[in-house]
Amino acid sequence: MPRTMLIKNADLLVTMDGQRREIRQGGLYIEDNLIVQVGPSAELPRTADEVLDLKGHIVIPGLVNTHHHMYQSLTRVVPAAQDGELFNWLTNLYPIWAGLTPEMIEVSTQTAMAELILSGCTTSSDHLYIYPNGCRLDDSIHAAREIGMRFHAARGSMSVGRSQGGLPPDSVVEKEADILKESQRLIEDYHDASHGSMLRMVVAPCSPFSVSRDLMREAAVLARQYGVSLHTHLAENVNDIAYSREKFGMTPAEYAEDLGWVGHDVWHAHCVQLDQHGIDLFARTGTGVAHCPCSNMRLASGIAPVRRMRDAGVPVGLGVDGSASNDGATMIGEVRQALLLQRVGFGPDAMTAREALEIATLGGAKVLNRDDIGALAPGMAADFVAFDLNQTAFAGALHDPLAALVFCAATQVSHSVINGRVVVRDGHLTTVDLPRVLERHNRLAHRLVGGE
Ligand SMILES: [Zn+2]
Repeated sequence: MPRTMLIKNADLLVTMDGQRREIRQGGLYIEDNLIVQVGPSAELPRTADEVLDLKGHIVIPGLVNTHHHMYQSLTRVVPAAQDGELFNWLTNLYPIWAGLTPEMIEVSTQTAMAELILSGCTTSSDHLYIYPNGCRLDDSIHAAREIGMRFHAARGSMSVGRSQGGLPPDSVVEKEADILKESQRLIEDYHDASHGSMLRMVVAPCSPFSVSRDLMREAAVLARQYGVSLHTHLAENVNDIAYSREKFGMTPAEYAEDLGWVGHDVWHAHCVQLDQHGIDLFARTGTGVAHCPCSNMRLASGIAPVRRMRDAGVPVGLGVDGSASNDGATMIGEVRQALLLQRVGFGPDAMTAREALEIATLGGAKVLNRDDIGALAPGMAADFVAFDLNQTAFAGALHDPLAALVFCAATQVSHSVINGRVVVRDGHLTTVDLPRVLERHNRLAHRLVGGE
């Protein structure tokens, strides 16, 4: 017998299904980890093994975070890196990150995931690209399993140190043969391609300015051999463009195409400076973009042309980016910033609340190459979150709860269900002892940043 769950009486249930239905007094019926029925509560089964009465709440599909560096939660607001642009910011942080340990990776991943989950996210990618002192991606994977988050673990890497013309110090780069071997091991040990999978692996050299052309090419061959996705940073700011033109004689988009880094199984973070040729290329090939508005503002990288990308048909998802370049990594806050930043750049009709929420749900699912998350519909994974509408932030906005969620300053979910499991109940994480995680995190951060 499957384990059943009934969600009922939500003031508004936002489905993001094919008809973009928004159902008053809505609910869901779930068997094990999948949604079986969606509709008005009156049309659903009367009871189940577990019943959540969400009167006074808005229920939406779990948000999807397509770009993060969770270890950076240990190095927020480092004084020397508070006010620089990307390359300056990185140069100040690399030496600190060289002190990371496996325990730091595990604890910071849980801290970052707690912050994401409490702010509405149910699926996240993490791009870990620095492996000093015995750190492994397995450390992140264990953390994700324990907290219960749906996870796309991206095996990042850096191989071109400063002595070879790259940006990172030589002490934090790896040999390319080791990177490929370790990536293959991780795929074989962990990748789960099944419907409703909780863990997928991604091959993800850090950026064109920290790995070689050969590694980018071989990474693509490896990923396609196993049917896993590819991820990197691309066209983040004007210095990034200048580096690409100088080193490779091409724009970042041309370089990506030359390397085989386009297709529905590829997504690039930022793309703030993606030109029209790049937008057309990405649209034609189904190449995805992780839009990170807060990080782009924080590092003064610019405003990504999301309106033009969407109009051209480029898959766009949202990312909070690493916690050292978006020191407030709340997922629902990122949705609001995506809407606001497009308007700063391209006018008041550049993005609506409904489109911003669509990017953060269906958009993210598409970018991660998934068809089983991002919407509440029969057969989809049971990932959804509820926000209590009776709070100061939404006062006076209840004539349009969906718009309230995006325009007003929403912060924390009351409930989160991931893969049919209640991970947040009444605002509290059920899977980990959060105060203890934070106490460990802050002790480790002090040791790392203070250089003790
Ligand atoms: Zn990043």
